[in-house]
Amino acid sequence: MFQKEVKNGHLYWDGCDTVTLAKQYGTPLYVYSENMILKECQDLKEQFINKYPNTRVAYASKAFNTIAMLQLINQVNFSLDVVSGGELYTAIAADFPAEKIEFNGNNKSEAELEMALDYGVGRIIVDSLQEVELIQSICRKLAKKARIMFRITPEVDVKTHAFISTGQKDSKFGIPLAPEILYPQIEKVLQAEDLEFYGFHFHVGSQLSDNNAHLAAVKVALNLMLEVKKRYGYQIKELNYGGGFGVCYTKTDVRKPYRYFLDPVMELTEKFCQENKLLRPEIVIEPGRSIVAEAGITLHTIGAIKELPDLRKYISIDGGMTDNIRPGLYDAKYSGVVANKMNEPVSKEVTISGKACESTDLLIKDIAVPSVVVAGDLFATFTTGAYGYSMASNYNKLPLPAVIFVKDGQSEVVVKRQTYAQMIQNEVKR
Ligand SMILES: *Cc1c(COP(=O)(O)O)cnc(C)c1O
Repeated sequence: MFQKEVKNGHLYWDGCDTVTLAKQYGTPLYVYSENMILKECQDLKEQFINKYPNTRVAYASKAFNTIAMLQLINQVNFSLDVVSGGELYTAIAADFPAEKIEFNGNNKSEAELEMALDYGVGRIIVDSLQEVELIQSICRKLAKKARIMFRITPEVDVKTHAFISTGQKDSKFGIPLAPEILYPQIEKVLQAEDLEFYGFHFHVGSQLSDNNAHLAAVKVALNLMLEVKKRYGYQIKELNYGGGFGVCYTKTDVRKPYRYFLDPVMELTEKFCQENKLLRPEIVIEPGRSIVAEAGITLHTIGAIKELPDLRKYISIDGGMTDNIRPGLYDAKYSGVVANKMNEPVSKEVTISGKACESTDLLIKDIAVPSVVVAGDLFATFTTGAYGYSMASNYNKLPLPAVIFVKDGQSEVVVKRQTYAQMIQNEVKR
């Protein structure tokens, strides 16, 4: 799976020696290959945007939301999905064009919605009926119009971990399909002068390995579009099919190309529109993980090594659940290497453990490493680009690691390492 560049026994990432990077910037360190991010965006252009007219990609920034990343997304001309005032604030700081921002979230506050309307975001994706009234009251106050979509709960079950499944009927996300709830609301929105109704949105889940759930949800959205045309004579302008495209974390994962998910979805959409004499709306997708996950690795320095005879060997690193909570949160699997001993044969199965005071803080269970691993060696974990930095915490008062971008042998800090002083800057001494 991972095309590893190795020189002199060291792992290289986008032309940079990871051992040198660790020395220069310290560990733990998030390292992103800019070329790999750009390649993902190029794949999306070739397999979706350029192939199908009237389509758009909105990067789901919760996967990795920093100023430099959002600038890169703007540079490739994608739209942006944000889910909070903080993500929106970062987008504004990155000079991201307002009209290309979509605001998602199942419980947006009044302050967040006001910030979004004031900045003039392109879409607000409404997740509950309560939210419609809140948006309208802010529109009146600011004398603005809101461009909205309805996130629906498509009532499809997804083959992924239950913790990252979002489209099932019993979900906190989306507006239920029950006609007596949905249609009066659509009617209201179509009549409202301060609201412009664009269409429907769904997101069925994350780390998907097959397209069944997507296709089932697309059918639901298309039928809704037809029903809206029949009932109100209104042609929906836009459908948003969410994200969720799976990536490779371990050697046994097989990644499907975007076209595997998107070709059947687009064929179904085009055919449905032709058969029912509907204009094909603009189709938007919202990938997060697949754009950044594989481009990112994390570097840790190995410290304490504990051998429990006939049981297990624990190799501790200088980070863990604080910079990658996914193993502890949903038993996510990762793969990695001892980055300064790439030419040594791997033999021994060990457990890579984090430094936080939690028994679940185990980064990788049962991974083969070279038999001679000592304190000071460098461990690199692959596919940490999505939901790593963005879910990082200060638990045990560990500072947030630095983030660097690497490209063609050059490296650049995009997020500085947090200092102890910064960690307590908002604390009040009594
Ligand atoms: C998280 C999320 C996405 C992105 O999911 P990925 O699995 O990272 O592609 C897209 N849309 C919405 C609404 C989300 O909540």
